[in-house]
Amino acid sequence: MKNILVTGGTGFIGSHTVLELLIQNYRVTVIDNLSNSKLESLKRVEKLTRKNAHFEHIDLLDVKALELLFQSSHFDAVIHFAGLKAVGESVEQPLKYYKNNISGTVNLCEAMNKAGIKNLVFSSSATVYGDPDSSPIPEKSPLKAVNPYGRTKLTIEYILRELHTSDNSWNVALLRYFNPVGAHESGEIGEDPNGIPNNLMPFITQVAIGKLKELNVFGGDYPTHDGTGIRDYIHVSDLAAGHIRALKKLEEKPGLVVYNLGTGKGSSVMDVIKAFEKASGKKIPYKITPRRPGDAAVCYADVSKANQELNWQTKRDLEDMCRDAWNWQQKNPNGYP
Ligand code: NAD
Ligand code: UDP
Repeated sequence: MKNILVTGGTGFIGSHTVLELLIQNYRVTVIDNLSNSKLESLKRVEKLTRKNAHFEHIDLLDVKALELLFQSSHFDAVIHFAGLKAVGESVEQPLKYYKNNISGTVNLCEAMNKAGIKNLVFSSSATVYGDPDSSPIPEKSPLKAVNPYGRTKLTIEYILRELHTSDNSWNVALLRYFNPVGAHESGEIGEDPNGIPNNLMPFITQVAIGKLKELNVFGGDYPTHDGTGIRDYIHVSDLAAGHIRALKKLEEKPGLVVYNLGTGKGSSVMDVIKAFEKASGKKIPYKITPRRPGDAAVCYADVSKANQELNWQTKRDLEDMCRDAWNWQQKNPNGYP
């Protein structure tokens, strides 16, 4: 497998994965509608790797454009990142999320089917575990959607399962990401959220650089070691490496496989603040506020399956994640130009 189509490849996780693919000499085509990213990310990836990826400005809702793409190029596999991901927005505009994420994926699979390309890596999420009963969470845990965004991920998982059941020449890797953070060690590519960040790490880096006054810590009364919520933060470069391992797995024609991608370690919000202060030398002002509705107390992965079957391990710890997130923020105070 050498020719890889990456949907959503100019986004946060996509750009880090394209970089890893180019380093490993894959030939890469990226499609993106640039609704939540800038082409600059790909330019920087090309500069860092001194290699080129082919880019096409395509929306997954544009069936004609997808068909033309598959007619004019050959791919061995597709890594499918493209999708909308803001939980709050998905509650306000569920139809936008169902249309973009679900219809977009169906369009992609139809175009792949027509072209006879049946190897797919899909970006799923730990959100499919809903509010988990216990952690670490193995892949066989019960699945539940707790918001429209999560329902799109869960629905797509079911669609891909049924597609594989109907035609077992499909090979599909469902990758359930835990909390991707950090940035490439160069500080050239990273997470570039629009407006005020919803997620913890970009919020912290913006407080550190003075764009935001203080961090609101959502809930100080969870049943955890310090009362704040626990998550499994994973460095985006480790996550990117997991995608290369998943492609290698697809070469074994495994059918449909599911893997958690996390570190297997839980860190509380206070742990993250402390690690960030240590990595950056900056004090993070914060106040404890009420819990954010819908947040689980504790959520971290059982990663033994991915460790064993993908032969993949994370290499970077929380301090590395904080250092690299901070480096990216300092070098790019306003994100990509
Ligand atoms: P991102 O927004 O940075 O990247 C997604 C990319 O998809 C963007 O470049 C966007 O422009 C593009 N896109 C969206 N809709 C499209 C469409 N219809 N046609 C073409 N391009 C389209 O997000 P990310 O953080 O890199 O996430 C990548 C994937 O991983 C998403 O599917 C997301 O749901 C999933 N995921 C992300 C996280 C996270 O915390 N970042 C966690 C779990 C799962
Ligand atoms: N969090 C917080 N303040 C913020 C953003 C997040 O305290 O401004 C907490 C949140 O309650 C959760 C953790 O940080 O316990 C990670 O939240 P994030 O939104 O980054 O990811 P999620 O796990 O919700 O997908």
